[in-house]
Amino acid sequence: MYEKDYKKEYKLAIKKIKEFNRIVVFRHQRPDGDAFGSQMGMVTWLKDNFPNKEVHFVGENSITYTDVMYPVMETLDDSFFDQDFLAIVCDTGDTKRIDNENWKKAKYVIKFDHHPAVELYGNINIIENEISSCCELITDFMLFFKKKYPISKLAAMYLFSGLATDTGRFQFSSVTPYTYQIASYLTSKGIVPIYDIYQKIYLKDVSSLVFQKFVLNHMVFLEKGIAYYILKDEDLKEIGITDERGKEHLSLMSNIKGIHIWMCITEIKEKGEWRVSIRSSRLDISGVASKYHGGGHMQASGATLYDFEKEFPLLVSDLEALIK
Ligand code: AMP
Repeated sequence: MYEKDYKKEYKLAIKKIKEFNRIVVFRHQRPDGDAFGSQMGMVTWLKDNFPNKEVHFVGENSITYTDVMYPVMETLDDSFFDQDFLAIVCDTGDTKRIDNENWKKAKYVIKFDHHPAVELYGNINIIENEISSCCELITDFMLFFKKKYPISKLAAMYLFSGLATDTGRFQFSSVTPYTYQIASYLTSKGIVPIYDIYQKIYLKDVSSLVFQKFVLNHMVFLEKGIAYYILKDEDLKEIGITDERGKEHLSLMSNIKGIHIWMCITEIKEKGEWRVSIRSSRLDISGVASKYHGGGHMQASGATLYDFEKEFPLLVSDLEALIK
């Protein structure tokens, strides 16, 4: 078990799962591996262990992951949500980021998350912001009931996918001995070879190299230890990628001596906004991200700029102030 004790919440959560016949599992917008992995891990575990219940999953699809690693999302008619259902929301700190507004109609809400607890929107809130990933937390929950409700090979594969991606394949500071225990348990379920999972998640096409070339040619380094690249709409078109992939090469700027904060800024033209992904080696960037319509973790946060010319220099100087 994880060192923190969530027994009371876990028991209440399973009681509620047993109570409801209709369950919908949600997660955050612009999903990453942990959002998809925790959502689909939960869905699979529920379907395996509670076969008489109606279990659904909603949210947008992803160009990178859908149909490669995770199934196409369901589209439920709005009227579906008019009857009682339990909402389980994974990996989402605040309500504005829950992908699908219908979660609001749920009779009861269980939140599983590892972002800072900005909003306690659940009836049960199982939140641990020091744990590496929502998948690690959800696996801990499932292990608590493992004798009665086991984790199948497929559920383990989804959970492992989120664990691996949110830890950058077990290299981030959030990784603890317990993370490895969870990884060991999930992989011992006989999931498909780990190599195959990594192939699904990380295999890229040639456009990724074209993109990488662009990033290397356009990276900007600031004296105080910030690095970034900007992708305007015209750049995305020239490279041949969608804005969703903008952050794909962020890690090119990690582990570079003297670079304390790095980020990418991607224009989303149809919305008139610029999406920023910020990372740092040690500094807590989440406060600055919140100031610019975002949030996230201490070392990995996201923000949105609505007036690029005005806000970008301010964002940079706020980040520089952190370095000082
Ligand atoms: P990203 O740069 O999109 O990979 O996001 C990094 C982390 O920050 C992820 O854990 C996101 O869930 C979180 N995050 C991104 N955008 C926001 C936001 N607007 N509000 C709160 N958290 C966010």
